Amino acid sequence: MSYLDKALDLHFKNPFKKWSSKKYIYKQKTFVKILQRITIKKSQLDKKQVIISFENRGNPQASIIRGHCRGPVQEVKNKLQKWCEVVDVDEFCTSKLYYHCHFEMAKVKYNGKEINSALHCSSNDCGITIDCDINGAMNIFMLLEKMIQKER
Ligand SMILES: [Zn+2]
Repeated sequence: MSYLDKALDLHFKNPFKKWSSKKYIYKQKTFVKILQRITIKKSQLDKKQVIISFENRGNPQASIIRGHCRGPVQEVKNKLQKWCEVVDVDEFCTSKLYYHCHFEMAKVKYNGKEINSALHCSSNDCGITIDCDINGAMNIFMLLEKMIQKER
């Protein structure tokens, strides 16, 4: 029996195996789509130079994006490292300090309720209120820029 015949034979004898391998292929295709979007590369072999900074969370099990299921963060990170350079960035610096003046930020309260998505700078000079995701992204970007400058 040829290798192909044997493989087909296995497929028909074990429909569950067939189903799980289909699921595996679907999962891998989804990963490729995600990696293409993050790295702006066509494939792992694309020679484009890309650096991605990854926020290092203390407890990855606890990282839940508002109302959504936790995604396979570690698996995406492992694959990402094969596609491009990945730099870890500490969470504290990115979520607690205002990217512009580096003062500590506090959560905004409205009618006595804390608003999770907005942060207010504690400095009297700027007293700005900003979306926490934008602030985090700006901090990660600046930290990455500094790291690259140090390396050169
Ligand atoms: Zn400020």
